[in-house]
Amino acid sequence: MNMFDNLSRERLRDILGAGGSHDALFAAAREALLDEPGDGVYLRGLVEVSNRCVKNCLYCGLRRERTDIRRYEMSGEEVKAALETGYRLGLRSFLLQSGELPGKAFTEKMAGILEWCSANLPGARMVLSMGELAPEDYDLLRKSGGHRYLLRIETSSAELYRRFHPNDPLHSHFRRIRALEYLRDSGWQTGTGVLIGLPGQNESHLADDLLFMKKINVDMVGMGPYVECPGTPVAEADDIPPVEKRVALTLRMIALARLTMPGINIAATTALQTLCPGGLEKGLMAGANVIMPNLTPGIYREDYDLYDGKVRVHDSPGEMLEIIRRACARTGRRLMLNDPGDPPHYRTRMEEERNGKHG
Ligand code: SAM
Ligand code: SF4
Repeated sequence: MNMFDNLSRERLRDILGAGGSHDALFAAAREALLDEPGDGVYLRGLVEVSNRCVKNCLYCGLRRERTDIRRYEMSGEEVKAALETGYRLGLRSFLLQSGELPGKAFTEKMAGILEWCSANLPGARMVLSMGELAPEDYDLLRKSGGHRYLLRIETSSAELYRRFHPNDPLHSHFRRIRALEYLRDSGWQTGTGVLIGLPGQNESHLADDLLFMKKINVDMVGMGPYVECPGTPVAEADDIPPVEKRVALTLRMIALARLTMPGINIAATTALQTLCPGGLEKGLMAGANVIMPNLTPGIYREDYDLYDGKVRVHDSPGEMLEIIRRACARTGRRLMLNDPGDPPHYRTRMEEERNGKHG
């Protein structure tokens, strides 16, 4: 029994809001990590396939109403070349991310790329993050070779969600939860996450977010701080928490996710690195075990302009790997190359489902 057992909503809220040192929390998270999934750091090579999006989330630099960015869509050949570069460096898990493009044409193009990956990148796990799609599109992507899907709920509070999204059926909190549940129940290794430090968000919201992610029983979590994107509506708000608070809350959320959800994979995100020098190491020290080096070709990187000051926009994949190697060495962690790093939670969840324990 230790001081971080039995994390009730109130206790989570109090830890998130407490001042002073959180070293004991981070140490407990690292200890939990050693149990499962272990001290390895797994890489997920990120390819930002397209910055086109039908949605209009009020915080995001890719929102459809933004007219001052050049929109692009990588060709299948460009995506495959980026993946091959990562594969040659020893990466065995790749994240294909884009704005939400619900038309069949884009889904079928991605399905074709996944089929190519199955044939040409043996042992690689393909992760998708393309937003809310129809169930049959998720099924096609899975059948074509997709293994994992990331769909952040952004916030578990329907009320807060409404503040940051237009009030129309395309931006429905309910629909997003349904999509997440569908992914979880149809065999995907499923990930979600939230934005941390949104204006109007408090520690109770974040405690609820942790409980939501635990309840929905995800295998992976990717959460990061909100980062202002000039020209988007949320960046104009006068109640955005200070950067230090957003970073501190993100690290506490990572540690608490590690303590409340055994065996999941947790990313140290680019947004955390953007707001905080040394964010990579800090994320690892708080219990994260996944890092996402960017494999997007240089000509597109600046156009995938989610928020201001995105880090590592100019680094080559090789340079990024070197930075990650050093971060692992400094934090006493093992860099796991040639290993896709499946979250142990997924195996446990599948076993439970087979045994009829899924509730
Ligand atoms: N379009 C897909 C979706 O929304 O699920 C995937 C791509 S979207 C760019 C990936 C994530 O970027 C979102 O889930 C959101 O949390 C994050 N994001 C967008 N704007 C952000 C901002 N200003 N600061 C930090 N993260 C942001
Ligand atoms: Fe589009 Fe995703 Fe950005 Fe929302 S967060 S505007 S869905 S890219």
